[in-house]
Amino acid sequence: MPSEFDLIRRFFTRPAPQAVLGVGDDAALIQPSAGMELAVSTDMLVSGHHFYPDADPFQLGYKSLAVNLSDIAAMGGNPRWATLALAFPEADEHWLAAFAEGFFSIAQEFGVDLIGGDTTRGPLIISVTIMGEVPAGQALRRSGAQVGDDVWVSGQLGDAALALAHLQQRIVLSLHDAAACLPLLHMPKPQVALGQRLLGLAQSAIDISDGLAADLGHILEASGVAAEIEFAALPVSATLREYLHLPEARRCVLAGGDDYQLCFTVPSWRREEVLEISRQLGLPLACVGRIVAGAGLRVLDQEGQPMALEEAGFDHFR
Ligand code: ADP
Ligand code: MG
Repeated sequence: MPSEFDLIRRFFTRPAPQAVLGVGDDAALIQPSAGMELAVSTDMLVSGHHFYPDADPFQLGYKSLAVNLSDIAAMGGNPRWATLALAFPEADEHWLAAFAEGFFSIAQEFGVDLIGGDTTRGPLIISVTIMGEVPAGQALRRSGAQVGDDVWVSGQLGDAALALAHLQQRIVLSLHDAAACLPLLHMPKPQVALGQRLLGLAQSAIDISDGLAADLGHILEASGVAAEIEFAALPVSATLREYLHLPEARRCVLAGGDDYQLCFTVPSWRREEVLEISRQLGLPLACVGRIVAGAGLRVLDQEGQPMALEEAGFDHFR
């Protein structure tokens, strides 16, 4: 049985060029850049709650950092350092090697150094803390939405939730459609470049981890405003569109979760600037509605009439 220190050395110690001191001492040392604030966020993934105990370890390693990167993206930050706290029942070296590969593959993709963590025996739990930098005073917050803003969504909504519904047999996808959606559930792509481009443009932003309705709801509450969105304007994949006649698929779009896209608001007179970013990043950005006075979220149908909650996919929202 390898010791805890062997495991840390073998699987979680890699060069950390962005740190003054990385893994191996009592604490890591980092030097933030001049004029920057640190954006810090932690997420915990618990076996049996956030993933299946037999989940693919490479994908799990990837996703555990991806969801944290998404939080930094939502603040408009540049992700730089991460720590990893891991509890597992026994040291399965194949599992750890694959988990570390997944974790370091996305770390490298986004230029993040793993600079420390903790390793302990226990039920399988993965907790990542990420630190990013954002120009002082400019971070994107949930609280800045104003009447006159458009509401925007990046990418497409609902595919990850559709894949989960398929795994849980709440919906039946063809093999081909399942193959299209499952990677979005297991290996989400955080919208880091977009977040940084939105600094000085978006008035508010959030990453969509619990479904657009819930996460836009957080913006509305923090900003003290309401929103109207058009169901038909919500960006969905060609795959999901095929299933939209099913209530379960409609639920995935608005109330699904695991999208890790960004929802943000921009004054409507600046619409062209958003479209230019979309072109430059090669990333679809959809204007789905607007911020209005009041409280709460209204979802409108093709005729501009408020949709019944059930029709919009909210039925088992609670
Ligand atoms: P301490 O007893 O001081 O808490 P540890 O023995 O827990 O130190 O950890 C030794 C070193 O290994 C520390 O630098 C710690 O940050 C790092 N470390 C522990 N577990 C991990 C992990 N899963 N990933 C990355 N670094 C880790
Ligand atoms: Mg420790």
